[in-house]
Amino acid sequence: MTATTIAPPTDPRRRELRAAARRMPEPEGAVPPSRARRWGIRIATGAAIAATLTFTREPIVIIALLFVLVVPFEKLFPRHRGQALRRPQLAGDVAHALTAPITQAITLAVAVPLAFASFAWLPGLALRPIVSMIPPVALPFVGIALFDLAIYWTHRWGHEVPFLWRFHSIHHSTEHLDWISGFRNHPLDGAFIAPAFVFLLSAGFSAEFSGALAVVQIVTGLFLHANVRWRWRWLHRIVITPEFHHWHHANERDAHNSNYSVFLPLWDIIFGTYFMPKDRRPQVYGVDEFVPEGLLPQLAHPLRGMGNPVRVVRHPIRAFRSGAGFARHVLADMWRSARRPTRRSSRVVAPGTAAP
Ligand SMILES: [Zn+2]
Ligand SMILES: [Zn+2]
Repeated sequence: MTATTIAPPTDPRRRELRAAARRMPEPEGAVPPSRARRWGIRIATGAAIAATLTFTREPIVIIALLFVLVVPFEKLFPRHRGQALRRPQLAGDVAHALTAPITQAITLAVAVPLAFASFAWLPGLALRPIVSMIPPVALPFVGIALFDLAIYWTHRWGHEVPFLWRFHSIHHSTEHLDWISGFRNHPLDGAFIAPAFVFLLSAGFSAEFSGALAVVQIVTGLFLHANVRWRWRWLHRIVITPEFHHWHHANERDAHNSNYSVFLPLWDIIFGTYFMPKDRRPQVYGVDEFVPEGLLPQLAHPLRGMGNPVRVVRHPIRAFRSGAGFARHVLADMWRSARRPTRRSSRVVAPGTAAP
């Protein structure tokens, strides 16, 4: 799929590529939801939104702000000209945005124990004496670089460790990048960045600084998904641009498993996952596997087949043993991902599959 000319935003290849992209059906044997079940899901989603808005009106303000600030640029400088504002699965992404405070509370509840259990505070503590010697003026730059390095690996493992991909694939299941698509996330996917935070805190960076980085990352992340054709070519290798993140979402084989950084492309360049072809633009997004539509089915999807959590109380020793085995399995996948051949050696693996 190598083009020799620069693809315009209305590239006719997009239609072809979209048609050719594998749309995965529901797993074999799955019964499509009945009409009553579909209505049940709609009512439950409405109830979740109503519960959130009773508690806070913040999501409405954020959605309105994003609409006013981003949509005009999408209209003036669209990357994909034919993409309508009312595109497929818009309602699901709006529901994700409207319930963000609840899902963020779930993220936090899981993130705190995960941060301690991850032992990411150990390398942080080891680094603390060195960090304390850094002049205050240079400290924010070192903090940003370290945070980004930790997030780079968290994000890379989110793609290349099959268990973590179950959760991150929800974010990547969107086939339309735009002003609101960045909200589609699984709360447990967000919790997986907890080790990066605890690493930074234990290395001696303040909670305010680490929190500010998280907020900046979330806000810039929302803009990076916008359907805009800005390339900012001169910035490509310095900070991440919409095109950099669009390639990260591209469901085109040679773009898979690339552009993991959230601030500095430097880490992708160093670890061999930088992908910014000069002669093409990303055309097709999404994943090659079945992901259901809508907020609640997407929240439930990664948890399918994981068993009843009550068994931990009923059989704690057995649960501990199988948990330890599972942790070893995940760590082995992380190790394989860290050692896999990179783009520099022309080897590319599909999303969600750890390379051999
Ligand atoms: Zn990703
Ligand atoms: Zn994204």
